[in-house]
Amino acid sequence: MKLRAPTARIDAQALRHNLGVVRRHAPDSRVLAMVKADGYGHGALDCARALLIGGADALGVACLGEALQLRQAGIIAQICATQGPHHASELAAFAHHRIHATLHHLWQIEALARWRGEVIPIWLKIDTGMGRFGLAPETLPDVLHQLRNARVRLCGLMTHFACADESGSEHTTAQIARFDAAAAGQDLPHSIANSAALIAWPQTRREWVRPGIMLYGSSPFAPGHPVEQELQPVMQFETSLLSIRQLDAGASIGYGARWQCSEAMPVGLVAAGYADGYPRHAPDGTPVLVNGQRAQLIGRVSMDSLAVDLRGIDAEPGDPVTLWGQGLSVNEVAEASGTISYELLTRVRPNARSPGDSPARG
Ligand SMILES: *Cc1c(COP(=O)(O)O)cnc(C)c1O
Repeated sequence: MKLRAPTARIDAQALRHNLGVVRRHAPDSRVLAMVKADGYGHGALDCARALLIGGADALGVACLGEALQLRQAGIIAQICATQGPHHASELAAFAHHRIHATLHHLWQIEALARWRGEVIPIWLKIDTGMGRFGLAPETLPDVLHQLRNARVRLCGLMTHFACADESGSEHTTAQIARFDAAAAGQDLPHSIANSAALIAWPQTRREWVRPGIMLYGSSPFAPGHPVEQELQPVMQFETSLLSIRQLDAGASIGYGARWQCSEAMPVGLVAAGYADGYPRHAPDGTPVLVNGQRAQLIGRVSMDSLAVDLRGIDAEPGDPVTLWGQGLSVNEVAEASGTISYELLTRVRPNARSPGDSPARG
């Protein structure tokens, strides 16, 4: 018996389908599949296995701890930690477990230059306009010089885009130009595209691409982009209808009495709330699928429940409710709630998850 009602069913088949979509868009690139943040809330290990079975060339995580969890579960594939070591004391584990380290700051370069252990595979990350992780482009020659005798194997050059989801973004054009200027003359593989870039910016499909969100079936673009039709949702976040009540005109619903019934109407209570990862800030009107029909959220989301307007909806207690997934894109719920799919997906509690129709094993 599950402790709480909502279930996030994970469909490994959909994950592999979406990997196929990446391949269609970037047929000549190798794929570093991002499984950071516990596989964007889908379970890093199951996702890693499914993606590797599907032919992903490598896995990407943020930090060493995430990489080690995969290694300890028996994943032998190439894993890259895109934040590199958080401290020089982590280098031994990077070396021992053959985790690729992305180096983004001079302190890491200096630590690697002093490293005397086994060879560590590294990527150099250049900040071309994200303002987050990355070496200043003009320091690259100096960094390469510092590392010339280091116990490292240089795998390639990386950068990350701030605005790749905005079509025609001048910022992205400038980032690409800065990267190419810095990388010119270095005969090294490039890894620069996230999901949005590899779809919308063909010139960013280099030796490697680094998709994340699109693998999980969510478009990185504003609603209406055609890639939505190609992707399949991997998470089916569903629960059930607990009750239906006929409320009178003037009755109010939930904390703060945010919603008031303008007429006598049927109101459904759904077994899911913000403790399950449903956004507390979802406003009235946020879509919810009740028994396959589009209903609207009404009133503030509670810890373990939310309410829906059942006028015109054919439903009875016990009926299935989809919070997002097949039939209701997580992007729609995110858009309504003033956030992005990434946040909603990563907030779903791990113990809500269950393998879907075709769990990955092996
Ligand atoms: C998360 C991440 C990605 C993937 O981005 P998406 O928008 O999810 O495709 C790629 N590269 C780095 C460095 C990241 O942190």
